Amino acid sequence: MAIQLLPPQLANQIAAGEVVERPASVVKELVENSLDAGATRIDIDIDKGGSKLIRIRDNGEGIAKEELALALSRHATSKVHTLDDLEAILSFGFRGEALASISSVSRLTLTSKTAEQSEAWQAFAEGSQMDVKLTPAAHPQGSTIEVVDLFFNTPARRRFLKSDKTEFTHIDEWLKRIAIARSDIYFTLTHNSKLVRQYRPANTDIQSQQRLAQICGRAFAEQALSIACEHDGLSLRGYLQSPQDTVISDTSFFYVNGRLVRDRLVNHAVKQAFAEQGVEHQPGYVLMLTLDPHQVDVNVHPAKHEVRFHQSRYVHDFILQAIQSALLQMPDLALTEQAT
Ligand code: ADP
Ligand code: MG
Repeated sequence: MAIQLLPPQLANQIAAGEVVERPASVVKELVENSLDAGATRIDIDIDKGGSKLIRIRDNGEGIAKEELALALSRHATSKVHTLDDLEAILSFGFRGEALASISSVSRLTLTSKTAEQSEAWQAFAEGSQMDVKLTPAAHPQGSTIEVVDLFFNTPARRRFLKSDKTEFTHIDEWLKRIAIARSDIYFTLTHNSKLVRQYRPANTDIQSQQRLAQICGRAFAEQALSIACEHDGLSLRGYLQSPQDTVISDTSFFYVNGRLVRDRLVNHAVKQAFAEQGVEHQPGYVLMLTLDPHQVDVNVHPAKHEVRFHQSRYVHDFILQAIQSALLQMPDLALTEQAT
């Protein structure tokens, strides 16, 4: 058998297999790009659960005309230039794969305008060589990415899509998680032209509290303990369900340097701190850990759902102590303890 280089579109489609699982993964990649571009407002329009249309509009810095074609090609990124950059990464993106992958399995158009340009430009890639066509367009500063007919050319993937309602729920649930961590951003979400969510920017504690109530429920927001703890370059902020609130909560959101991750470490620490107080149920939490990016490896999973801490025991113990001290400051709990 002869060895041949894969044509770009096929290489991108193979890469898409890892990062583009369903419409919600497209929304994730595109919204993260908008956040990396410094957007303060992001509008998300979905048709038919995202299988027909996913449109993300932002007011970020935009992409210059000369860079539109590059943005759509694989391994092209403005976020990482050296290995040192990668080891200290704070942006969501760094793989330079999302736009190339998504455009290889959909009809993607990218429209953008930078502050310096007087005109906006639109790009789309097509054919096996992913040739990029550019046309002038009307658009304010920022970018709009439109993804039409996701998986139209990869029928095996398309068959795995669930109902429109289920796919939309995945998008909605993901957006809730990001909207909590980024309460400074104005988000809207529409489905089949109907406004489903509107998260107004929260710039004060009260507004953040309102956003928390909007997403996690009023009861959670009213009773939750606030966590704010700092030690030796580590910081933990967020909310923890009150031990007296026995409603089972499915809120368990954990962020590392702003990135939503799945990690057993935080679950374990929360459970342990509660068990020490004689509370057996698993409480809900929204916890944001900030640490020196050199202390964490984010390049362990293509969709970046997981991270690796260099000193995981140390991080675990810090989270445990932060929660222990929040629990100790609860007057009622201290009283119950004295009584027993
Ligand atoms: P990555 O995010 O890993 O760099 P992507 O394929 O997601 O790779 O995006 C490629 C590049 O396109 C980014 O590095 C960025 O420069 C540019 N880009 C993508 N989306 C946007 C956006 N919404 N606003 C501004 N620039 C963007
Ligand atoms: Mg990206």
